[in-house]
Amino acid sequence: MYRTHNCGELSLKDIGKKVILSGWIQKIRNLGSLFFIDIRDYFGITQLIIYKKSVKKNISLGKEFIIQVKGKVVERLSKNYNIPTGEIEILVYHIDLLNSSLSPPFTIENQTDGNEEIRMIYRYLDIRRNPIKNNLMIRHNLALETRNFLSKNGFLEIETPVLINYTPEGARSFVVPSRTSPNKFYALAQSPQLFKQLLMIGGIDKYFQIVKCFRDEDSRSDRQIEFTQIDCEMSFVEVHDVLVFFEYFIKHIFKKIKNIQLNSFPCISYSEAIKMYGTDSPDIRFDMTFVELNDLVKREKINLLKTQELVIGIKIQKCHNIHDNDQINFFLKKIENKNFFWIKCLSNQTLPSSNINFLNEKNLKIFVKYFKALPGDLLFFSYGKKRKTREELGKIRLKIADFLNLKNSKTFQPLWITDLPLLEWEEQSKKYKSVHHPFTSPKEEDLHLLEKYPKNIRSKSYDLIINGIEIGSGSIRIHNKNIQNIIFKHLGLSQKEIEHRFGFFIKAFEYGVPPHGGIAFGLDRLVNLLEGNKNIKNFIAFPKNNYGKDIMTNAPSFLEKDKLKELHIR
Ligand code: ASP
Repeated sequence: MYRTHNCGELSLKDIGKKVILSGWIQKIRNLGSLFFIDIRDYFGITQLIIYKKSVKKNISLGKEFIIQVKGKVVERLSKNYNIPTGEIEILVYHIDLLNSSLSPPFTIENQTDGNEEIRMIYRYLDIRRNPIKNNLMIRHNLALETRNFLSKNGFLEIETPVLINYTPEGARSFVVPSRTSPNKFYALAQSPQLFKQLLMIGGIDKYFQIVKCFRDEDSRSDRQIEFTQIDCEMSFVEVHDVLVFFEYFIKHIFKKIKNIQLNSFPCISYSEAIKMYGTDSPDIRFDMTFVELNDLVKREKINLLKTQELVIGIKIQKCHNIHDNDQINFFLKKIENKNFFWIKCLSNQTLPSSNINFLNEKNLKIFVKYFKALPGDLLFFSYGKKRKTREELGKIRLKIADFLNLKNSKTFQPLWITDLPLLEWEEQSKKYKSVHHPFTSPKEEDLHLLEKYPKNIRSKSYDLIINGIEIGSGSIRIHNKNIQNIIFKHLGLSQKEIEHRFGFFIKAFEYGVPPHGGIAFGLDRLVNLLEGNKNIKNFIAFPKNNYGKDIMTNAPSFLEKDKLKELHIR
């Protein structure tokens, strides 16, 4: 028997018990005739007290050695109330070495001196640390709650293939050469999109899957090339049904995992989001919505501004701790926009930024009055072409929020963004591209634009944004063959390509497709957000680095010539 108890469970109630513990040595303190050891396992840490005479002479011990000890639970003289076992220790009378260890390359404690790279190379050692282990436990709980909740609500978990035929879905796919079919390739599924739709055609009412997806995109610190989605689809639903149900789901998850009761999720359209926040994923933990000033600057005939396509501003209240130009310029230093200025309201004057010699004192007062700004308030303005002006003020809004510490990671403010455009024009390829994916349904009221003005069509799509992060996205799907064909054509696919890539799918459209729709949530992102949104890699057992490499196993790597030959790659 390796153990009678684990290293996290003994306490004062166990005093006097004879116990056996096994675990890794976290710390050794040698006091001459006796030494103290902190022994660690998955469950916790227990202090051992060992008199040298009771240890076999030939045992030498070090950090991360695995030992088994037999001893008696005794009360500790100097208690450590920070850990559950901190009031007792084990008086050891027998110790066995189960395995030795090299000296670890970084400290295996809550606070570590290991940088990200070294922790990735020795990920198994990193997982021994509480912060990473706890993250994996939270991830497990999230997945478990998801499964239970969706199952209870009539969703069936169904696995769909990972090795599929290449289908243009939005991102680039990873491809896998086939050994048995020379010169042919599988693609790794970017998502189960088509299969979950086929399940609806197959009469499954509600489907879900916690599923690995693969996208050959440039990695970023918050994006992995393989990631996990909570993927869902429902039959006979409209946008409203999906939003209501999945708001209920997200609220349930927050309650169960964080004991947080979320308020109702506001719902705004894509175009409203762009107008109000300059982005389709706004962080609404803080207000600062854009105010459009074109009418004002025209009415007041304000120089330079009155001729701009767009002039917008935001008010930030109570910035008493921001005093001068230098401070403001410092936190805005990475903002490229030259078409912006700010005004600080002091009790006795209005202090403008140095780049607005085109505004006089009277103009400044007009803005102050319009915004009803009080002493301490700051006003920021951006002007120029619509899109850039909004984007730039959106960035400034986030910078200010950082500077004023308004991004409280313990507050969660979800919102739905709906009615995203169906298509966007790509200048480089001179083609339309789906904003969501090619299977997203246009809104009925915009169908008349389908042939001639595809760019203006709004889609039945929705994103769930929490604290400025896209946590989920989905849509109601096209279930009409003709519409699906027109969309494929807008995307630049020829009849032959449609047949080649999507023939099976179009064929299924001949057999009674129910109206259906769904959504997918990023599980890695969601768990990272729940725990303070610090680093997505901390919630993935074996993540890739920011360049898409696994620096522990060294993937990707070269293949031997004979392997390549077998795969028909010269
Ligand atoms: N398949 C979509 C995605 O991965 C989600 C959906 O539309 O349900 O983004």
